[in-house]
Amino acid sequence: MEMNIKPAIDKQPGKPIIIAGPCSAESEEQVLKTAKALAKQGIDCFRSGIWKPRTRPGSFEGVGSIGLGWLKKVKEETGLKVTTEVANREHVFEALKAGIDVLWLGARTTVNPFSVQEIADALKGVDIPVLIKNPINPDVKLWMGAIERIHKAGITRIGVIHRGFSSFGDSNYRNEPRWQLPIELKRLVPEIQIICDNSHICGRRDTLAAVAQKAMDLQFDGLMTEVHPSPDDAWSDAAQQITPAVFGKLVKGLKIRSASTNDVEYLEHIDDLRQEIDTIDKDLFSLLGKRMNAARNIGKYKSKNNISILQTSRWNEILNKTIELGREKGLSDGFVTQILTAIHQESINHQTKVMNSTSTKKASKKTKA
Ligand code: PEP
Ligand code: MN
Repeated sequence: MEMNIKPAIDKQPGKPIIIAGPCSAESEEQVLKTAKALAKQGIDCFRSGIWKPRTRPGSFEGVGSIGLGWLKKVKEETGLKVTTEVANREHVFEALKAGIDVLWLGARTTVNPFSVQEIADALKGVDIPVLIKNPINPDVKLWMGAIERIHKAGITRIGVIHRGFSSFGDSNYRNEPRWQLPIELKRLVPEIQIICDNSHICGRRDTLAAVAQKAMDLQFDGLMTEVHPSPDDAWSDAAQQITPAVFGKLVKGLKIRSASTNDVEYLEHIDDLRQEIDTIDKDLFSLLGKRMNAARNIGKYKSKNNISILQTSRWNEILNKTIELGREKGLSDGFVTQILTAIHQESINHQTKVMNSTSTKKASKKTKA
């Protein structure tokens, strides 16, 4: 689908877009106190949840519409733009009535096409920036679908927020970043602004800066971070919120590297270095081609002797030997295992093909005879 997407929030070159504010609006005083401290830092937009999608009932589900008045006050007293999450038609109407500048769709909304469509329908004929968080599950198509639905409603100022993906089992993250997914989205829609919500990725304070830096190094356009005047007392997401002062330090500490330059010496040198990479990749893949050829030969030989493809002991032996080799070359065990598993799988596929074709040949010979 051909899309005409414009910047959701004005961005100054070389500076990330900064959206910050509490997870939830709790009181007028808390909202104003946070906003005033953040306004001094020159942020671009103040965030605060009014309607909170909580995993289980009984947790704090947001103050509701009364909080819209507090956000209005933030605008009047600080001049900051304000944004809040909308999850249904009523939220959209109320937020528009209150003069909210930017709307965002939460991860639990993006995942549901009915909800996204309801919001899109409520936005017909309105010109307001909309930020779309990734769905909770790692599905770029679903994320794209939400962008398309909102765009079809006539909204052009659309951005996306990467907040990580739900996973099962132990993890250092609250939501796994799976950076390749936002990168893929950016490849599909290069003009869309992409904001990193490090708070919901990390779920804790000590890793927020590293994730923010990673996003900057991947050429993300900005950050959305949860900031609370007294984080430990927050009514939602306490473990990941930081004070305005800590947030100020985090932003100051970010290294913003540019995506390109006109420096001739740099361009020539990077070209040489890249040629080296290209040559190595060529060698790597022609070797892999040779490896598959060898695998096919083994397949034919096994087939002739009626031996099965997978031999666990042989696979274990190769894996252990290669992990050891990888260690000598400074490669992590995880990387070697991932690569070798993929190569092994491809070899099995090649062998399966060879064995199937030799066995069908045999079978057809038999039927002829
Ligand atoms: C939030 O931003 O507070 C929030 C609820 O986020 P998400 O939709 O990413 O879970
Ligand atoms: Mn939150």
